[in-house]
Amino acid sequence: MSTEFLVRGRYVLTMAGLPGPGERDRTPGAHLDGVLADACVHVRDGEIVAVDDAARLVAAHPALPVHGDGTGLVIPGLVSTHTHLSEGLATGMGSELSLFEWGEGIVGPVGAVLTREDAAEGTALKAVEMLMSGVTCVNDMFCHNHVGSRASLGVVDGLTRAGLRGVVSFGAEDVGLAEPGSEAAAAVVADVLAEQVDLATQVAGAPLLEFRYGVGTLLGQTDELLAAGVDLCRQRGWGVHTHLAEVREELTAARARWGHRTVEHAERLGMFERPLIAGHGVWLTEADVASLARHDVAIAHSPVANMILGSGVCPVPRLRAAGVTVGIGTDGAASNDGQDMLQALKMAALLQKVHHLDPLVVDALDVLTMATIDGARALGLDHLVGSLEPGKRADLVLLQDTVEVAVLHDPVSQLVYGASPRAVRDVWVDGVQVVLDHACVSVDEAAQIERCRPLAARLGRDAGLVAAGHSVIG
Ligand SMILES: [Zn+2]
Repeated sequence: MSTEFLVRGRYVLTMAGLPGPGERDRTPGAHLDGVLADACVHVRDGEIVAVDDAARLVAAHPALPVHGDGTGLVIPGLVSTHTHLSEGLATGMGSELSLFEWGEGIVGPVGAVLTREDAAEGTALKAVEMLMSGVTCVNDMFCHNHVGSRASLGVVDGLTRAGLRGVVSFGAEDVGLAEPGSEAAAAVVADVLAEQVDLATQVAGAPLLEFRYGVGTLLGQTDELLAAGVDLCRQRGWGVHTHLAEVREELTAARARWGHRTVEHAERLGMFERPLIAGHGVWLTEADVASLARHDVAIAHSPVANMILGSGVCPVPRLRAAGVTVGIGTDGAASNDGQDMLQALKMAALLQKVHHLDPLVVDALDVLTMATIDGARALGLDHLVGSLEPGKRADLVLLQDTVEVAVLHDPVSQLVYGASPRAVRDVWVDGVQVVLDHACVSVDEAAQIERCRPLAARLGRDAGLVAAGHSVIG
């Protein structure tokens, strides 16, 4: 059965045909390419077939249903380029800890007992929050050290239920799980690689998902696993998702272990020869930035997580000027702790402005570009999504009805600095409506909350978080 409809807004922000970061006229009030007034997006069978003047499209297709009353904004679905949705049951703890303390005190113990069901339910729970903040595509990394559990496969279950598009990876780490050089250590490496293959196979059956090989952190993997992983990626043609240069301690530890920085180590391993998206990229030298640019490594900037963990400030303007593709991520449900992508957009701008003491250093259009077409490019999906153009898949968002988008003197600024999930009225992924009239329809929010409460309580007990004083759930 053919599904065909129009989505109408006072402004349609196509994010198509934009000049590069150094080529744009940044004078206040300068014309913004790609912003159409009184326009519609025409969708047929999950594909965008036209983006044009509303009166013209409505007159040409009088029988088609029209979503939207001609007010508000229509934008491409936002792309969150770095998160860990399966942490949805372990959120709201340890926000006063540094990254290393948080990893040791919370993420490690949770990962040791997390099941595939926990991962699926936590993912579906946090997917609601993502969809309700306008996200249609997510780059998820599942992290656990529950050897043999295949818990990572739960993320595919959760994302499929939610109807989200995305890229899925298992950010494995094996340091400390067995005596180095022992048979047990070799067995752990073999199991991690087998889970990667199982996850890739599971993803192959999910039409909206793609697989990447996950490396939690370079320092979290033994040299044996790092080498075996790069080999497997070469054999299978896989891209990679990892964390890189997130905190200063990482550089010291890498120098102590290998004699050089993690960016250099990733390059030496051959990891940069694969399509690579790296979370964070906060602690970078000029040589590191040049290396990322040379190898077309994309950075997923997660400003809220960087601020919560006190990690530092990603050199976003420097990276973009060097030609590095930068996307925006919320980061995990346990280190943000929310999954509100609109908040991440605003923070991405504000953090740079206050850090550089310059309100022009990153503006609203820069941020929206990073959260849409550049995020899609960072994941190798810009041929499918990231902008509203004929031929692309119909991932789009209508913001309407609320005070946040009532007055639109500058639609891009109003979206980035003034919008919240309250304003998200409708969301489509691949032409399928997943948010309808300000409510998620792919996942029943109330039922999902009921399902997750007892699972979160059990996780808190089994992971020892209650005993350690991190959780009061009982
Ligand atoms: Zn992360």
